Amino acid sequence: MMTQPLHNTTDAAQDQYHPRPEIDLDYLTELLKELLAIPSPTGYTDAIVRYVGKELKSLGIDFELTRRGAIRATLPGRTAKPNRAIVAHVDTLGAMVTRLKPNGRLSVRPIGTWSSRFAEGCRVTVFNDAGHHRGSLIPLKASGHVYADEIDTQPVNWDQLEVRVDDLSRDEQELFHNGLRVGDYIAIDPQPEFTDHGYIVSRHLDDKAGVACLLAAAKYVLEHSDAKPLPIDCHLLFTISEEVGSGASTVLHRDCAELVAIDNATNAPEQNSSEYDVTITMMDASGPFDYHLTQRLLKLAREHGILHGRDVFRHYRCDAASAVEAGNDIRTALVCFGVDSSHGYERTHTDSLACVARLIACYMQSPAVVPRDADQMGPLKGFPKQQHIRQPPEPQPHHSEKVDRRTASPRAEASPGHDNADADRAPAGFESGGVG
Ligand SMILES: [Zn+2]
Repeated sequence: MMTQPLHNTTDAAQDQYHPRPEIDLDYLTELLKELLAIPSPTGYTDAIVRYVGKELKSLGIDFELTRRGAIRATLPGRTAKPNRAIVAHVDTLGAMVTRLKPNGRLSVRPIGTWSSRFAEGCRVTVFNDAGHHRGSLIPLKASGHVYADEIDTQPVNWDQLEVRVDDLSRDEQELFHNGLRVGDYIAIDPQPEFTDHGYIVSRHLDDKAGVACLLAAAKYVLEHSDAKPLPIDCHLLFTISEEVGSGASTVLHRDCAELVAIDNATNAPEQNSSEYDVTITMMDASGPFDYHLTQRLLKLAREHGILHGRDVFRHYRCDAASAVEAGNDIRTALVCFGVDSSHGYERTHTDSLACVARLIACYMQSPAVVPRDADQMGPLKGFPKQQHIRQPPEPQPHHSEKVDRRTASPRAEASPGHDNADADRAPAGFESGGVG
């Protein structure tokens, strides 16, 4: 078990310390195993929606579905206005058949954005109208004994791959006879491995680990609320089309004021995410997340001694973006478990999942970030404030003074050593953590 705090020390000694929620990690990891075992490429999610529905039922949480199967469950609070939502997506990357080839193989295109490099050698299930077939995604030049060095020089793209179906399919007719058709869904085997040291190596941790964290947090809250309702209604959303960009566009109430998405944080040398804690994301490709909601999450993490760090993601979007783009006037934030090789050979650690579930449980139990958000429109009264300093006005030259604008020194030079901007800038990888 990795317990070394990688993002530790405190940056807010004034925060009050509260006990940290102890999440049922056995429940979380067993649930994750079950979720990973259910194929759910975007567009083929009915089975996993049914499974999550059953799990909600067994936890005693009410829910309803949209027409296509996005789930909106509710943990009731003392007030329904404003209310909040926490979202994770049940769909995963996958592929689709585009052509039955004369050589008895299948051409494919990806569902969601992922590199064919990571598809080479995958075991797959092809779902057709009547049943399913097992097979492998392999490069066109798949045998070293035939192609020798050409294997290493063939390009990497989806045109270079084909599915070899494990049935008598030597040509196009035999594929057709076996029931295979253009448009059949392809689910990629997750090949999960849970190591003794807490590592979880599997495809589709994005976002099944997020779903498991959300349900584990809900279970904790239900078991520790002493029958007291939450401060405000909290909706648990499970979306079905995040990987193609439209995830949380339809499943929200218009009166929902806050949305926290749970998804993966991308590990890389130039990133500030870690596989061993929770990452609170400040911005992704869709823009900055809500200042006040994000500050609330940072404060909760500090107060409850939850290891965390901050990061900014470049080639990344999540359910929060689709919610805002669909016209919801909603505060959004992104809470992440660390994933190494996202959308490829993914790996995370149970320490990270525990931190995410703890933070989500704390958030569920916290009051509305901005009570004024109960109404969509309102006056200035109750409107929040960001950290603010008023800029001093430009010195106006006395009318008798002649200033040469070309040689006047910049105002910032006036106070060397007085710039406090660096005082709270923690070096990368040493962001705040436990208080107390
Ligand atoms: Zn995701």
